Amino acid sequence: MSTDTIDTASRELWDTAKSYFMMTLKTPEDKSQAERYFGMITTVAREGDVFTIFTSSSFAADLIRSDYANRLKGAFAMADAPEMEIKVQYDERAKINVVVPPTQYTSPYVSQGGSRQSSFVSTLPLNEDYTFDSFVRGPSNSYAISAAEGVVKNPAKPLYNPLFIHGGTGLGKTHLMQAIGNELRRRNPSMAICYLTSETFLNEYVTSLQNGQIENFRHKYRSIDLLLIDDIQFMAQKKDLQVEFFNTFNALKDQRKQIVMTSDVAPKNLPSIEERLISRFEGGMVQEVESPSYETRLAILKKKTEISESRVPDSVLEYIADNIKSHVRAMEGALTRVTLAINADPRLVLNNETLGRLLRDYIEKEQSMRKLTIEEIQQACAKKYGVTLKDILSHEKIQSIVTPRQLAMYICRKLTSKGLQEIATAFGKKHATVIHGVKSISDRLSCDTELRVDLEDIISSFGYRLSDAMD
Ligand code: ADP
Ligand code: MG
Repeated sequence: MSTDTIDTASRELWDTAKSYFMMTLKTPEDKSQAERYFGMITTVAREGDVFTIFTSSSFAADLIRSDYANRLKGAFAMADAPEMEIKVQYDERAKINVVVPPTQYTSPYVSQGGSRQSSFVSTLPLNEDYTFDSFVRGPSNSYAISAAEGVVKNPAKPLYNPLFIHGGTGLGKTHLMQAIGNELRRRNPSMAICYLTSETFLNEYVTSLQNGQIENFRHKYRSIDLLLIDDIQFMAQKKDLQVEFFNTFNALKDQRKQIVMTSDVAPKNLPSIEERLISRFEGGMVQEVESPSYETRLAILKKKTEISESRVPDSVLEYIADNIKSHVRAMEGALTRVTLAINADPRLVLNNETLGRLLRDYIEKEQSMRKLTIEEIQQACAKKYGVTLKDILSHEKIQSIVTPRQLAMYICRKLTSKGLQEIATAFGKKHATVIHGVKSISDRLSCDTELRVDLEDIISSFGYRLSDAMD
């Protein structure tokens, strides 16, 4: 959130309510989803008993309103503001007016006497904690870090453009990308930096088309100095958006403006992305972040405790690094839980037994992730839909077989730690087919209740809840 445009009291109230709200979320996925939507909050304002949250995209406003409203109300009550009425509003002006020279910029929500300190412009705010200093280097990410450092050294003359960082979720792509933005902003406050996800780009594009403001949109994205675009995989299958992005990309590249992007897969594995875009992406520098080793995991945990100044014994950090391997994000969740427990009871004895109990759900999830096999999942999906394993493995394209096949791919992706290649091989399909299958189920799940019930049935037989397998 851009703190310079908000009055301090409202911001503090919001920060407190938000942390209570976050405590109500159980799974790391729920938390990261909430962080993502809260990341789209441009400002907050309080007038009497009405607290308004402004967002930079209409879908974030809709989602916060529909899914979070009740719990937010509860969170405000815990923050000593039980009477507060909460409104969520899409802040269109924040979108269109972002990229203008600093002297001409006046935010509609500047508090009395407040002013913008820099021309840092962005649809989504950068998280100031995501710096190079707070990012731990290890064999799993050292090339990606070096490439990111290369961007920072040479912003005016990009050595490689774009820089494309890919890798699994929770491995630090967003952190690293924002570290580039934060460092360049520090070195050159007048640089016009834009950080956004491809979803936000899509939303802005659609809204500006609807409002007849496409020229504003184009002008905005073609007059920035650094474009950081996160989670590019969401552009898949959106042809018009890809054309628009291709043009923006070329315009920026021609002006020698740096572009950095992230994705959960390598460029060549992006499903349904135009060939010419893929070859553009590959024309720059492509780097992967991989799962960190035990040593790196431990170093990350140490760094996190150093930053938060929490006193957690080394033996506890070792326990977490040893038992939680899949996501750095899950490791952080476990660390937070232990820290809270220590704060609540400083005399708590932390041995393997108490830690095992405290972190049971994280550990169980890890263990079952490792245990569940692809074949078990294929079998369960085949059985549920009354087809055979052979059907699942065939190339048959009728819907009654495609659905269980894609659902099986989806479950493999969500509930096992198997890589895409391994899943593709097990299905006798191409990499891109798996990505497409997973995406297709993911899209359908948001509106197809029956499919959600089927998914729940299948995974509950493996001891999972629906929330474990939702985005
Ligand atoms: P991704 O974008 O790849 O899904 P994030 O950048 O959101 O992952 O990282 C998830 C969490 O893990 C963040 O809180 C981030 O700070 C932390 N993290 C990941 N890798 C590292 C690292 N090497 N050093 C420090 N923190 C890390
Ligand atoms: Mg990310």
